[in-house]
Amino acid sequence: MGKVTGFLEYQRLQEAAEPTQQRVKHYREFVLHLEDEEAAEQGARCMDCGIPFCMNGCPVNNIIPDWNDLVFRQDWRRALDTLHQTNNFPEFTGRICPAPCEEACTLNINNDPVGIKSIEHAIIDKGWEMGWISPQPAAHRTGKRVAVIGSGPAGMACAQQLARAGHDVVVFEKNDRVGGLLRYGIPDFKMEKWLIDRRVQQMQAEGVQFRTRTCVGSAASLQGVNSDAVEHVAVEALLGDFDAVVVAGGSEQPRDLPIPGRELNGVCFAMEFLPLQNRRVAGDESVRELWASGRHVIVIGGGDTGSDCVGTSNRHGAKSVTQFELLPMPPRIEQGNPVWPYWPAKLRTSSSHEEGATRDWSVTTKRFKGENGRVTALIAARVEWKKDPATGQTRMEEVPGSEFELPADLVLLAMGFVNPVHQGLLDEIGLAYDPRGNVAAATEGETAYRTSADRIFAAGDMRRGQSLVVWAIREGRQCARAVDEFLMGMSTLPR
Ligand SMILES: Cc1cc2nc3c(=O)[nH]c(=O)nc-3n(C[C@H](O)[C@H](O)[C@H](O)COP(=O)(O)OP(=O)(O)OC[C@H]3O[C@@H](n4cnc5c(N)ncnc54)[C@H](O)[C@@H]3O)c2cc1C
Ligand code: SF4
Repeated sequence: MGKVTGFLEYQRLQEAAEPTQQRVKHYREFVLHLEDEEAAEQGARCMDCGIPFCMNGCPVNNIIPDWNDLVFRQDWRRALDTLHQTNNFPEFTGRICPAPCEEACTLNINNDPVGIKSIEHAIIDKGWEMGWISPQPAAHRTGKRVAVIGSGPAGMACAQQLARAGHDVVVFEKNDRVGGLLRYGIPDFKMEKWLIDRRVQQMQAEGVQFRTRTCVGSAASLQGVNSDAVEHVAVEALLGDFDAVVVAGGSEQPRDLPIPGRELNGVCFAMEFLPLQNRRVAGDESVRELWASGRHVIVIGGGDTGSDCVGTSNRHGAKSVTQFELLPMPPRIEQGNPVWPYWPAKLRTSSSHEEGATRDWSVTTKRFKGENGRVTALIAARVEWKKDPATGQTRMEEVPGSEFELPADLVLLAMGFVNPVHQGLLDEIGLAYDPRGNVAAATEGETAYRTSADRIFAAGDMRRGQSLVVWAIREGRQCARAVDEFLMGMSTLPR
């Protein structure tokens, strides 16, 4: 603990950001990392708790008090090494993680938590600026071959760990670029894509091969990916060529809203809309013309995906942006802190919300109206959430006479993802599912990350269900260790 009285002397610092009016004119990142002295001051706020709840709140168990102290002492090099011990890609999480560590920070009980994420951001950016991050090829090769299906954060973390353990790793990706939802879900203004390319180069130098435009399984596995120029590989062929296979294909089945008018033009899934903008930013030509410009946009669903639709629509120049959430508005401050150190239900305002949107809670969408096959309006109603005294369960009831109509030219469905796509790859292998429809695999014990099929492992959203980048990295790392143990009888990879 660098400064015993730091938490009494210094305040939490917000990272500087470009003003909203300016940043909506472009798709670049607009948050600046802390200056060295600011990061040191923030590190000084850490109390080096006997039980560091922050580490437990962090899915990759980042060794937070240690790097807080090292940054306070301006020992950036060791801070970077400590950060990399638990996280392959801190430049991703330092930008887009919702920071469950901060909710779990002891200071959060009666003060503002330590700005852990801002310190992580500063350390990793400094590490790259100083040229301290270089490939770490394995000293010995094992001669074992592993195929990883899916190049999202789970697949990338898994592949990097396995390559560093000396295995020959090939990552198969049906899309034209590596990164999964980091590449084609999360907008550039939250995380620029050269950050992925830089890690891919590092991984290639460590021996990982990437085969993009290569779908494992039949065309049913494509899920919206343009089938032109995509090669298909059968999983049996992979099992013949590789000693182990990891499925890390994400949770790609979006939740639909089967109400009257759903078929109208202009009503689409968020993931039909968001990737197009990432492609335009990447310089792709002949991207489908689906724009929010000059339109009344309604986003249905209040999570990260919905928020990204808000930010992208504002950048397109939408006439209005409204976001609906079925659940009631959460309290601005968690009441009585009943769940610390866990994730509390409280109102969260993203940077995209700051840029402008009407947010409305306890709203159910009943039908869409249209003309000439195109959506023109949306009919919604207010709902109340009531506890059933008999069962103790909360039920939703429509408020009589509360129906209202809003003009709508573009409706983006952002209500989450049900589970991975079963048709294609997963059904073709015949993998068992858990009760939520995710690929069934435990995370502990001798069968950790093993699916119901011999030599096939699963990690990330495909196993866990729709989640976060930091959970995907954790699963990728832990799965790599399980695969290494399976191949070698033991593993020195960290869990
Ligand atoms: C719009 C949006 C915004 C989000 N914002 C955030 C955020 O701000 N912070 C955060 O922490 N989380 C966020 N998330 C969640 C986060 O992106 C995911 O939890 C995370 O990317 C899951 O990683 P994954 O590697 O398991 O899967 P994915 O990232 O989904 O990657 C899976 C990859 O597998 C490929 N694939 C699938 N099947 C096959 C096949 N048969 N053959 C070859 N390739 C295949 C897919 O093309 C994809 O590239 C967001 C999600 C969305 C949709
Ligand atoms: S819980 Fe907060 S104050 Fe305690 S060690 Fe972690 S970051 Fe520091």
